[in-house]
Amino acid sequence: MSDTLRATPQPAPIPLSSKPAPGPPRPSETRSRAGKTACIRTFGCQMNVHDSDRMRRMIQDAGYAEVQRYEEADLVILNTCYVRENAVDRVRGHLGELNRLRREGRVKKVALTGCIGAAAEAATLQRTYDIDLVLGTHNTYELAEFVGLPTMAETYTPELPGTEGEHGAFVTIMTGCNYQCSYCIVPTVRGRMVCRPRQSVLEEVDRLVEGGTRYVTLLGQTVDAWRHGGERFCDLLEAVSERAPRVWFTTSHPSNMEDRTLRAIGERESIVKRLHLPVQSGSDRMLKIMHRGYKAERYRRKIEVFREAVPDGTLSTDIIIGHPGETEDDHERTLELVEDCGFDSAYIFKFSPRAGTEAAELRDAVPDERVVQRRFLEVLRAVEQNAFTRNQRKVGGVEEIYIRHGSAEGGKAIGETWSGHAVHVKTEARPGEYVRAKIESAGPHVLYAGDPVA
Ligand code: SF4
Repeated sequence: MSDTLRATPQPAPIPLSSKPAPGPPRPSETRSRAGKTACIRTFGCQMNVHDSDRMRRMIQDAGYAEVQRYEEADLVILNTCYVRENAVDRVRGHLGELNRLRREGRVKKVALTGCIGAAAEAATLQRTYDIDLVLGTHNTYELAEFVGLPTMAETYTPELPGTEGEHGAFVTIMTGCNYQCSYCIVPTVRGRMVCRPRQSVLEEVDRLVEGGTRYVTLLGQTVDAWRHGGERFCDLLEAVSERAPRVWFTTSHPSNMEDRTLRAIGERESIVKRLHLPVQSGSDRMLKIMHRGYKAERYRRKIEVFREAVPDGTLSTDIIIGHPGETEDDHERTLELVEDCGFDSAYIFKFSPRAGTEAAELRDAVPDERVVQRRFLEVLRAVEQNAFTRNQRKVGGVEEIYIRHGSAEGGKAIGETWSGHAVHVKTEARPGEYVRAKIESAGPHVLYAGDPVA
């Protein structure tokens, strides 16, 4: 399981989808001048969303118009996720449907990319479903040649451009992971850490900002592990915060998180005051079994630094319930940590074994499903209670709100405060714009603002 995945409601939504993008067809959804069309379907985490953006650029450069339905596409790209146990079954369903459309002459080519493309099952899937192109996460750039563009010289995907011209963009600064968490397939499918050179990151940020991007999110499986030429993540974050009007980063690992980064979040105006720091368990015994590389006390200390440096900030985490070997005592330690840290939100997962991981070999030690469900609800309630209490403190204050998703037909737009709280606000402001509004009420997951004020 990657640290970047999520299970409970989001503090500030970033679209993750395996479904067609909502909304009316875009102008590009008519046939392109070359008459070629392509459909990209994305499964999984933000890294995959970003990889899809890069592939989107390639197909557009190659003259394809993007469509949302398989039956209108000459080329279908399934950009897959391998984190959940049934992920491959799910993709099989899509591949079966695509084979039918191919037999009817509606779809011409199918590409399988992403984490399943890098996994052992890919060869079998390619044979069974006669897939035209299979790419892993490390060689996404090879799609360029497949769609008729000159071969790209890049040796790893972060050099490829990300989303441009939108109000917000992801900028990948590193790929892969050097950890070996017991439950996680990411190091197997994404490989070891590769950091993108500082200059390359900053040039992309400059280009994005010049093109109108107002919100840059630095991405990586362990983003705070970035280093290059003697510089560390905090140096890069500070440089980016001087160039982009609004900056965030995800996902961090507690062992890499430096105190000076936590302080920079508080000091730098353009950095959103939100920290996502996955803890996974409050029990030292479980953290050791999971190979997380830190103890609960060290995690608590990081949070103390964050709360002191960023008193108004929001804190989210990932927690796994029912990892093999988890006892009632381990669960109690997790509840204690949740209480101590006062998370503003948490992505809580029930353990799900992934083939190829160490934890998948320990199925016998998985707690009973009813026990897991009870523990899940206890942790969820504890997080929500904390979050609700903390969110209530925002009621009555006037906040500057960045609009992330515009309102649909008189409904409420979804925005984000500088403290990282998600806010529903009634406004016609468009994504990327700011409004000021008074917070009138709050639930455990979101704040509700009144009409914007001047
Ligand atoms: S640190 Fe690496 S191995 Fe551990 S959960 Fe995150 S991506 Fe997976």
